[in-house]
Amino acid sequence: MTKNSITLYPSNWLYNAGVIGLLKVLDRNAKYEIKDGFIEIQIEIQKKGLNKEIFEKWDDLTNKKINISYQGKKGGTKNYYYANQTERSIKEKISSLLGEKKEKKSNGKGFNISCSICGISEIVSKTKLKRKTLTQAYGNILLASAKTFPNSYWMLKSREFICSKCEFILMCHHIPFVTIEKKGEQNKIEMFINSPSFNLTVDLNTFAENLLQKSKEYEIRKILGSSLLQWAIKRRTLLGAWTMMNIEVIIKSWHKEEKKWIIDYFDLPQNITKILLDYEIASLIEEINEEKIFDLILQGKFSELEKANYFVLRTILKLKNKEKNKEKISENDPITKYFTKYQDFNYLKKVSEILPELYIKILEKIGR
Ligand SMILES: [Zn+2]
Repeated sequence: MTKNSITLYPSNWLYNAGVIGLLKVLDRNAKYEIKDGFIEIQIEIQKKGLNKEIFEKWDDLTNKKINISYQGKKGGTKNYYYANQTERSIKEKISSLLGEKKEKKSNGKGFNISCSICGISEIVSKTKLKRKTLTQAYGNILLASAKTFPNSYWMLKSREFICSKCEFILMCHHIPFVTIEKKGEQNKIEMFINSPSFNLTVDLNTFAENLLQKSKEYEIRKILGSSLLQWAIKRRTLLGAWTMMNIEVIIKSWHKEEKKWIIDYFDLPQNITKILLDYEIASLIEEINEEKIFDLILQGKFSELEKANYFVLRTILKLKNKEKNKEKISENDPITKYFTKYQDFNYLKKVSEILPELYIKILEKIGR
């Protein structure tokens, strides 16, 4: 079997989301390996009907995600997410990515232009150039909003050239977005966690998706925070400062007044990211297993941990005394601000040992 190997490097979030989406589209038709800084995808290009299979998988995922199908479409897709695309035009893009057709050599008429994403240059004719710049074909919702929100796709300016290999990848960017809120199509909020490393991006989005399967009530701060925490515990790896600094959540939501989709960003302050990604700190937070304490850390209210510990010790004493009279801790007790399981003597005893250690480790980490 002839295999085609494609190597992709991280770029702006639009492209990174495209790569993650592409992996879902290729599914069993490809093997991939994420290495330090890039991803290598092996595709069996000789497989019969591969293009059709990839198109159908893409269309199926697109239908599930944004309720549109390009199956059998020959036109009339002006208002679709990927504007003016047809089944054929999408299949052509798949073909280019797979390397099924060679791009024509220059006959002296074309322009030699390099791709604004991967940097590889390609010879394009004038007519083709119009079609291949970054327009609404790559997400009308996204790029229409770019005029009002110039930063909605990082670094890229409108109408930049996109090469044949990158075209289909960009058209997979909607796939890895996870829905946070779904009170009707108009209140839908979707998110994608981007980072400079494909490994980290895949992991963080998987953790976020798992969390959202349990409940849709979480705020973005907490989803990102929990994903970082889980990553630290499961992977036990140190991340470089550059990677840590560039973890961000891309939020897609519907702007009711302007009646269009907008893109927003969210990231956690540097010191909080650093804390959550520390294996030892993350493990202690998990051991405490209390959302109120986790919230304090997410908000950077570290000195509150010291206060919390004071009330834990006080409550332990109170519980000892009350045991004799079979009384309970009052619902107005200050401890209730920090803990849910405040009637549980053994739990508080455990926490009283963890909290001081956690507090010291946090101070050490942020250099205070
Ligand atoms: Zn390219």
